[in-house]
Amino acid sequence: MSSNGFDYDLFVIGGGSGGLAAAKRAASYGAKVALAEDSRIGGTCVIRGCIPKKLMYYAAHLGEMRELAGDYGWPFSGNGDSFDWNGLVRMRDTVVGNLETAHEGHLGRAGVTLYKERAHLKDEHTLELAGGRTVRSKHVLVATGSHPVLPKVEGLESTLTSDGFFEIHDRPRSAVLVGGGYIAVEFAGILQALGCHVTMLVRSQLLRGFDREIADHLADAMRRQGIHLHLGAAPDWVEKGEDGYLVQFRDGSGSQRIKVDSCVVFAIGRMPNTTGLGLEQLGVNLGGKAEILVDDNHRTNVPSIYAVGDVTDRVNLTPVAIKAGRTFADRVFGGKSATMSYENVPTAVFSQPSIGTVGLTEEEAREKFGEEGIAIYRESFGGMLYSPAPEERKVRTFMKMIVHNDSDRVVGLHMLGPDAPEIIQGFAVAVKAGATKAHFDQTIAIHPSSAEEFVLMR
Ligand code: NAP
Repeated sequence: MSSNGFDYDLFVIGGGSGGLAAAKRAASYGAKVALAEDSRIGGTCVIRGCIPKKLMYYAAHLGEMRELAGDYGWPFSGNGDSFDWNGLVRMRDTVVGNLETAHEGHLGRAGVTLYKERAHLKDEHTLELAGGRTVRSKHVLVATGSHPVLPKVEGLESTLTSDGFFEIHDRPRSAVLVGGGYIAVEFAGILQALGCHVTMLVRSQLLRGFDREIADHLADAMRRQGIHLHLGAAPDWVEKGEDGYLVQFRDGSGSQRIKVDSCVVFAIGRMPNTTGLGLEQLGVNLGGKAEILVDDNHRTNVPSIYAVGDVTDRVNLTPVAIKAGRTFADRVFGGKSATMSYENVPTAVFSQPSIGTVGLTEEEAREKFGEEGIAIYRESFGGMLYSPAPEERKVRTFMKMIVHNDSDRVVGLHMLGPDAPEIIQGFAVAVKAGATKAHFDQTIAIHPSSAEEFVLMR
């Protein structure tokens, strides 16, 4: 029994990135913690998101490096047709399984009690578990994540979402991807690089919310990669036949049909997992997408109930959920006063090539500081690694810096090119710390590198 007659000091619903981080951090302060998860431990990121995706991204990247290796003197044998999709899937699923086991082990070692069943709230301190048991906790944290949505399109039952993407067990030969966000862009690049013919149907523009120039450069790169990219296109219906799928879609030039033999994947956004948790009955305030509304301390309008991660639909990224979970535990159980900043959150898209970005886009900076208020610096180059490659195999890098004229502060950094996520992660510290263009100019370049261009921009 914890203090004040409760069974636990903290009960976490959801064993994804945010829930796990909060549970372990709270336990590290001596709190008595339990966590309920009715699916696999690790949540979207570990089981059906970032981790399996990044492993497949590596497979795609290695294919490209393998071709380039021939230009560097390494013997080149075989071709893309010999790619072992099942081998990739086996390796990926093993790594994911190992990570899941590791996460469960970390929880146990932290002293967190794990209930492998669904939990819902009966009142502001009482939880009922699917097995019938009832427990009481002083604090409750909802970290149940989100799920992929599907549009109202005929024939959807034969299509996949991002969850189903990770269950494809035969190598896809041709596929349609619907959506222009992170997931669709990443899946499209991976599949095309692994020898699948990809058609993308993007309702408005690619990567809405990202810097336009970066998105436009990515669109060019995707087309060069061979992806059939249809902007302003939406599907009317999907029909599954004996030998594949027929998709009718509309774009600026009217109705068209396309036939693919492997799959149709919808990646058109995600919705918070808030149903069946007892939140409405308790009067927990939800927003327009049924997300849980929280204050700066991740607390809902019901004082004992908190929420972090995608279920709050703020910045839906794994590291944000982890930071939110730890910040919550630091405040409630560690006596710390820090709040979490949602400003200048760096992010990456594991497209081909990848994107790294932090701070304001050019569009946001113009809106905030006015036309004359900012200076833009750009750099574009082929990259030394690709110098021996023929033009069609060269991967170009595009870098962009946005500076606020009055303060000289760097308010946005964007990069499309090899290693962009790694490079932007480092520079994000400088942007977060308020570095100025003068600081960048005073920094000595690391040569030869791509990253050096950020300190050499004129
Ligand atoms: P997303 O980034 O929100 O993009 C949704 C895309 O689907 C947009 O292009 C949107 O078009 C389109 N769309 C929405 N409704 C549609 C409809 N009815 N018909 C056709 N197209 C439609 O969603 P996501 O790619 O599914 O990703 C979900 C979340 O996962 C994101 O919030 C992201 O934070 C996270 N994620 C992150 C990473 C990463 O960090 N690398 C990777 C994967 C996922 P409009 O632009 O016209 O609305």
